[in-house]
Amino acid sequence: MKVVVIGAGIVGTCCGWHLAREGHAVELVDPLPPGCGTSFGNAGILSYSHVLPVGHPGVLRALPRLLLRRDSPLRLRWGYLPVLAPWLLRLLRAARPGRFEAHARALHALVSRAEAAHEAVIEACGLRHLVRASGWLKVARDGDAFDRETAWERRFLERFGVPHEVVAGARLRELEPALVPEVRRGLFLPRERRVVYPLDYTRGIFADLERRGGRWRQARVASLRVESGRVRAVVTDRGTLAPELVVLAAGVFSRELLRPLGLAIPLEAERGYHATLPAPAAGPGPERPVLALEDGFLLAPMKDGIRLTTGIELASPYAPPDFRPLRRLVARVGRWLAGIEPRILGEWIGYRPCLPDSLPVIGFAPRCENLLLAFGHHHLGLTLAAVTGRIVADLVAGRDPGLDLAPYRADRPFV
Ligand SMILES: Cc1cc2nc3c(=O)[nH]c(=O)nc-3n(C[C@H](O)[C@H](O)[C@H](O)COP(=O)(O)OP(=O)(O)OC[C@H]3O[C@@H](n4cnc5c(N)ncnc54)[C@H](O)[C@@H]3O)c2cc1C
Repeated sequence: MKVVVIGAGIVGTCCGWHLAREGHAVELVDPLPPGCGTSFGNAGILSYSHVLPVGHPGVLRALPRLLLRRDSPLRLRWGYLPVLAPWLLRLLRAARPGRFEAHARALHALVSRAEAAHEAVIEACGLRHLVRASGWLKVARDGDAFDRETAWERRFLERFGVPHEVVAGARLRELEPALVPEVRRGLFLPRERRVVYPLDYTRGIFADLERRGGRWRQARVASLRVESGRVRAVVTDRGTLAPELVVLAAGVFSRELLRPLGLAIPLEAERGYHATLPAPAAGPGPERPVLALEDGFLLAPMKDGIRLTTGIELASPYAPPDFRPLRRLVARVGRWLAGIEPRILGEWIGYRPCLPDSLPVIGFAPRCENLLLAFGHHHLGLTLAAVTGRIVADLVAGRDPGLDLAPYRADRPFV
């Protein structure tokens, strides 16, 4: 079939790759080259241990403190509150007992398939050199803060039997010699992998997609023309396309294209920033991503230096970035790792596409037989892209994807 994939982020690229592998003629449509949206600037973690939804009771309890604290990992642009309020209410409802456990199970169903799906991509595209079996370390300077920040996560890791280790003393230093002595405790997740540079990873998959006959068309999709339950035309700023199948993978911007079709998906951006810092001139840099729990930032080794990524800013994806909090965090890196100069080489903002139940939308659009949806991967888009692509290819081929897709439907209640 002639397939148009709207959005050439890691999710769209993986969907396109899977479909091209099955012989379809795939065109990725995006004003940006593959991998240059939110997929460009993430922390690069293949987070195979992530089973805790954002909406859980621990977050509910911490919310007032998180919203009011200066330099909190969670920031809200208060002017956006009237727009955001319905989404926030759904997030609060998602955290209620019974609900969040169901979301965690549905998240686990995807995450537990993510590694095999990435392995298939890595093998077929020859990307082994871009991936490190590093694990992920979440550290605290203070024991109480460690317990507070990781209690819920550890409970869920136990429940789903995900390997993890609480580390301190010599074991902590052995894992990360660059940690300053004041850092006392850590949660080590040994199954996590890291990609050395997210853009190279998406580009590597796209290069193989091109070898299989796929291509990228530089255009912005303005609308989808739907008649008699089918997309008849994809209208772009550079002409109109008439594919047989459309995959919508435009991250947080997918909602704009669906609204005229009568599909109101509560998709919001959890905005995140990064700063690139120079790699240490002397001594070891971090071997693996290190999350500084009390300050709420993450330091990830990348090929171009150390990438400091931030927590969540709740604001419109169209609002201008505010880099000031990021700069204040950069000044605090010395509290965590020795030898890293707090000098900013580059700054960036991205938009995690988030639904209140922390689950993506994957599946055919209601009442539209040739429109597939693949967006809303929140903090896990890199992790879940390959398994999403595989599921999309299964659905197109009429194969059983091997898991219940009801939790990811576009017409679910979203709590
Ligand atoms: C700071 C930060 C750190 C993160 N760390 C991690 C991590 O370590 N591990 C992990 O798994 N995830 C992480 N994430 C999340 C991850 O980056 C996202 O979930 C993922 O990039 C989403 O991919 P996507 O392909 O859906 O979206 P995008 O990468 O945003 O791609 C969507 C594409 O759609 C295009 N588009 C939009 N509108 C249109 C239109 N009208 N027509 C055509 N094209 C359009 C955009 O230009 C864009 O290229 C992080 C995110 C942030 C912000």
